[in-house]
Amino acid sequence: MTQAPITQDVMTIPRKLPTGGKINLVGLTRDGMRDALIAAGLPEKQGKMRTGQIWAWIYEKGVRTFDVMTNLSKGYRAELAESFEIAVPEVVTRQISEDGTRKYLVRIAGGHEVEVVYIPEKDRGTLCISSQVGCTLTCSFCHTGTQKLVRNLTAGEIIGQVMIARDDLGEWPELAQSPNVEARLLSNIVLMGMGEPLYNFESVRDAMKIAMDPEGISLSRRRITLSTSGVVPEIARTADEIGCMLAVSFHATTDDVRDKLVPINKKWNIEALLDALRAYPKASNSERITFEYVMLNGVNDSDEDAHRLVELIKGIPAKINLIPFNEWPGAPYQRSSNNRIRAFADIVFNAGYSSPVRRPRGEDIMAACGQLKSETERARKSRKEIAAEAGL
Ligand code: SAH
Ligand code: SF4
Repeated sequence: MTQAPITQDVMTIPRKLPTGGKINLVGLTRDGMRDALIAAGLPEKQGKMRTGQIWAWIYEKGVRTFDVMTNLSKGYRAELAESFEIAVPEVVTRQISEDGTRKYLVRIAGGHEVEVVYIPEKDRGTLCISSQVGCTLTCSFCHTGTQKLVRNLTAGEIIGQVMIARDDLGEWPELAQSPNVEARLLSNIVLMGMGEPLYNFESVRDAMKIAMDPEGISLSRRRITLSTSGVVPEIARTADEIGCMLAVSFHATTDDVRDKLVPINKKWNIEALLDALRAYPKASNSERITFEYVMLNGVNDSDEDAHRLVELIKGIPAKINLIPFNEWPGAPYQRSSNNRIRAFADIVFNAGYSSPVRRPRGEDIMAACGQLKSETERARKSRKEIAAEAGL
């Protein structure tokens, strides 16, 4: 079989980058946009209507300039252009894997870079977006955790990743409005890229509210999954203020092992995490919490681990997602064997849980889970530092 070549190119779609001088409308909530328009001189009584019109241009039609907003007067369009901009981050490179996965390297203000991955499947297309540059947490199996430099992304930079992907997929505006959401190329969002979304709560929330807004990108809250390493105090807020699906990076069945793999466990241990999940108001049989479990050879993959896992999560509407470890240069672990993963999955399945094994996608372009890290980032941790933090 001949394999399609990996392509890497610089995107040619014309785009406007944030200039810094003007207020970027991308990322503002509806209320925020209304307030900004009024502060710039719009009569208050027109606030709601104008916001609705501009919102639709930006998030339904995908336009980036005011001059095409034909339901606004020419004079008002010119005024808007003086104070505001409609700007999304810059795509530096796009790589397309032989399996169709696309990885974008995206540059945000300050020159930092984050990665965004689009994964096409038969009945859906999932965009994996980032919430931070790097991550302050240091999970020992995660490539992102080795990256030192961190800043939170703004709401505009988070929803901007979705807009960039739609630009590239050519999904403005007709397809986007298809009543059949399965027909969309971009039908699901997962917050599983770089960063811990619950350490950037407000921006993640505002961006996801924009993605869910029915007069725009219009994705159902059930098509958005937020993955957290276990920031316990923010879990209830996620249900209340975002209402999306929740995934948890569980990865171990004893505090000893979890302390090493997911160091936030030292702050909120397995018991505290499970208590918060039991109380997750949105969890039900139709909206299960996903337990992510990375399979690390000889570390967390024994039969005993599998039995302990199903015992621990008893009573929580859950599905278990087994992730074969994706290796990266210098990683202190190896992937469990296929036989081991199968044996583990069988125990979980026989206990009544669906236990899909996540098929790594885009491996040839290092786009798989936990491999994301901007290669251009200079500040890196050494192997020694990684090993020391993992307590190895
Ligand atoms: N910070 C969040 C979301 C980003 S990571 C979190 O930790 O949940 C998305 C998922 O990929 C998490 O479950 C994470 O534990 C997992 N992951 C990280 N590195 C990985 C690797 N090298 N191989 C497989 N999965 C990995
Ligand atoms: Fe951060 Fe998640 Fe990676 Fe842990 S697994 S270092 S929380 S991105």
